[in-house]
Amino acid sequence: ASERLYLGLDFGTSGARFAIIDKHGTVQAEAKREYPIYLSGESYDWTRSWKETLFSLLEYVPIHLRKQIVSISIDGTSATTIILDSDTGEPLGRPFLYNESCPDALPLVESIAPPNHTVCTGSSTLCKLVSWWNRVGLNRKSALLLHQADWLLWLLHGKLGVTDYNNALKVGYDPEVDSYPPWLVCQPYYHLLPSVFAPGTPITSLKEEIRSKFGFENDCIVCTGTTDSIAAFLAARATEPGKAVTSLGSTLAIKLLSNTRIDDSRFGVYSHRLDDKWLVGGASNTGGAVLRQLFTDDQLEKLSEQINPSQTSLLDYYPLPKPGERFPVADPNLAPRLLPRPENDVEYLHGILESIARIEANAYGLLKELGASQVNQVFTAGGGAKNDKWIKIRERVLGLPVYRANQTEAAYGAALLAIKGHQHNIL
Ligand code: ADP
Repeated sequence: ASERLYLGLDFGTSGARFAIIDKHGTVQAEAKREYPIYLSGESYDWTRSWKETLFSLLEYVPIHLRKQIVSISIDGTSATTIILDSDTGEPLGRPFLYNESCPDALPLVESIAPPNHTVCTGSSTLCKLVSWWNRVGLNRKSALLLHQADWLLWLLHGKLGVTDYNNALKVGYDPEVDSYPPWLVCQPYYHLLPSVFAPGTPITSLKEEIRSKFGFENDCIVCTGTTDSIAAFLAARATEPGKAVTSLGSTLAIKLLSNTRIDDSRFGVYSHRLDDKWLVGGASNTGGAVLRQLFTDDQLEKLSEQINPSQTSLLDYYPLPKPGERFPVADPNLAPRLLPRPENDVEYLHGILESIARIEANAYGLLKELGASQVNQVFTAGGGAKNDKWIKIRERVLGLPVYRANQTEAAYGAALLAIKGHQHNIL
């Protein structure tokens, strides 16, 4: 028999991808697609664009691999929200995008949720739901809320009303007790909320019409997904407590697998559940955006080559693209510190990279102080991961082994969830 394969799809902020992997995690095929632009009156028709992208990605799956795919999962952007008619499955109006804010709903949400809860921000899924409910919800008999990943998965399996506890965190789901909290259950819009499962839980078989159209087999199942940033963490396979992923993109984001849950709204630190562990995360405003203000990527590469990473830089900066920091220092007015600038650019870059590494070390230190597991190994993702000198500097400053992550694509993480769901299914 030919080997079983697992399909993961990622719907990120700028486009969508898939990864097909075998049980060893070896990639058998990958593809990506930008979202096509459709207009509906004055605004973008996002649901049409995502749906079209989903099916065109399925078209890109090599025909000879389709029969081997036994399980599928999808991740989507966090807090991207679609409200549907629960009888017909038709979207009721346009979706709310991940970064869209509904400040009109904030006072009401703050009045029902515990202080500093993750739903108490204008872009939370709950604020989107409350804003919609106050405008049109009262007159709708049958409506249902889904996140972007849930909705795309539904197009594949056809069972309405299923989500995962990572996507559901920002609508107020409590992953610790595994239920919606009492303060949410008593709200008039509670019946819109979907049923919640662990990420990578088998939902049901791939729809018959899709199997026959694309040539998938009868035993292909569809599993619950997660958010895009959690899928990217899963891709690095940091599966033990104490393992972490630092993402060095425009900003510096850290995610640490921990035995304990920590949440601290002062620092924007919060935890997602991953089975019996917690994924603790925080993001600093330092990172590659500052480097890009000062150097081209080409200069970064050439200057980095000349850095001696075993030497300590005495330059002490706090690189920020503009004033304000959240984590590991909560100070909305913190000023960028990038002076004095030495004449030699190699020294300057060395000082900046080392200063960012110190912020990273303080970030892991703060998570520990707040009660998270002690970090013992760091994987690196993002544009800064390709800088080997920076990795060496970080090893010295953090006092830990630092690696470039082998896999950083969220689609790969979604494919790992498809494996998990399939294993669960055959037990
Ligand atoms: P984004 O968060 O925008 O997706 P990326 O993960 O694509 O970011 O990373 C881009 C960042 O990587 C840029 O801000 C750039 O400054 C940084 N970068 C690019 N090349 C290097 C390098 N050789 N060393 C360190 N940083 C780099």
